[in-house]
Amino acid sequence: MATTWKLLLNESITDPDDIARAFGLDLESTKRVCKVYPVKINPYFLKLAQDNGKALSRQIVPDIDELSPRNTSCPQDPIMEEAYSPVANLTHRYHDRVLFLISDTCPVHCRFCTRKRKVGKGLTVTDDTIREGIEYIRGKPEIRDVLLSGGDPLLLEDNKLEGILDSIRQITHVEVIRVGTRVPGTLPQRVDEKLARMLSRFHPLYIHTHFNHPAEIAPESSKACRILADAGIPLSSQTVLLAGINDDTDTLEALFRSLLSMRVRPYYLFQSDMVRGSEHFRTPIERGIQLIDALRSCTSEMALPKFAVDLPEGKGKVVLDSGHLEDGGKGEVMITTLEGEKVKYPNPAPSG
Ligand SMILES: *Cc1c(COP(=O)(O)O)cnc(C)c1O
Repeated sequence: MATTWKLLLNESITDPDDIARAFGLDLESTKRVCKVYPVKINPYFLKLAQDNGKALSRQIVPDIDELSPRNTSCPQDPIMEEAYSPVANLTHRYHDRVLFLISDTCPVHCRFCTRKRKVGKGLTVTDDTIREGIEYIRGKPEIRDVLLSGGDPLLLEDNKLEGILDSIRQITHVEVIRVGTRVPGTLPQRVDEKLARMLSRFHPLYIHTHFNHPAEIAPESSKACRILADAGIPLSSQTVLLAGINDDTDTLEALFRSLLSMRVRPYYLFQSDMVRGSEHFRTPIERGIQLIDALRSCTSEMALPKFAVDLPEGKGKVVLDSGHLEDGGKGEVMITTLEGEKVKYPNPAPSG
């Protein structure tokens, strides 16, 4: 018997005609965009987007701007996941952890996706790529943290996902498993107690989910997060800063507060990557720093993600903040308070 989430997924819009009709778009330009960057929207998120206006629909509806000159001149793989890929679908960029793509499908195709060049096109996950990835991890004792992504790992069948988790858990040097997924916000029907119970067999297992706007937090997504949190799975969110969608303090404050209420801890706020086809979503780099600073004055640190930028040419993730530390001379540092006041602080000399 097909379950609800699979029916929803099977009924996803993937045809330019349907998407043009649903959102009243120009058919010719929609076809042109979809040829380069395929569209996919499942009926749950379609309805949510239609009910909530541009903040959601702009994330998933093809836009002719994706083919504009500023977009075609951008690199396709800006953060160079491929250059650090010893086996297909696995990136080993940081010493102690790997990014491992174990699924090639998503509940929706985000128009700003970092892997826009691949998802719905060239990304292929097979039993072989999964086996090779697991072999690689087994052969590298320094890997203590495995971040599963895709595509969306939670779109695998329970038994398939369980098999992969089982194999990874048998590797004794792997301490932490993480799952990156947009399912709780975009296809929450996928999450049920059976899935949560299965995942909880592999603790410590963390879920990084992905919410960009408060309107994504519907009763269904709250329920999905509750089921996962009740299974003892620590939840966090990786939000992407998107021009005209969430790049203002009110939206982010509402989002981060709502996430905390669902026991989802804001983890990263990402500068939108320099990805071909999504340049129009990018904000000036200071914007993210200013937004976090502004939020800090009105909300708890619990609600604040780190603002991070993934540098081009595979130079890695860097966390940016306004930098409150200056040299104060003579064993002192100058620290700037939230109010902008500079305060001297005695700085212990390094020992030894
Ligand atoms: C982001 C990322 C990770 C995980 O980074 P954390 O800062 O530990 O969350 C691991 N590998 C790659 C390639 C990444 O891009």
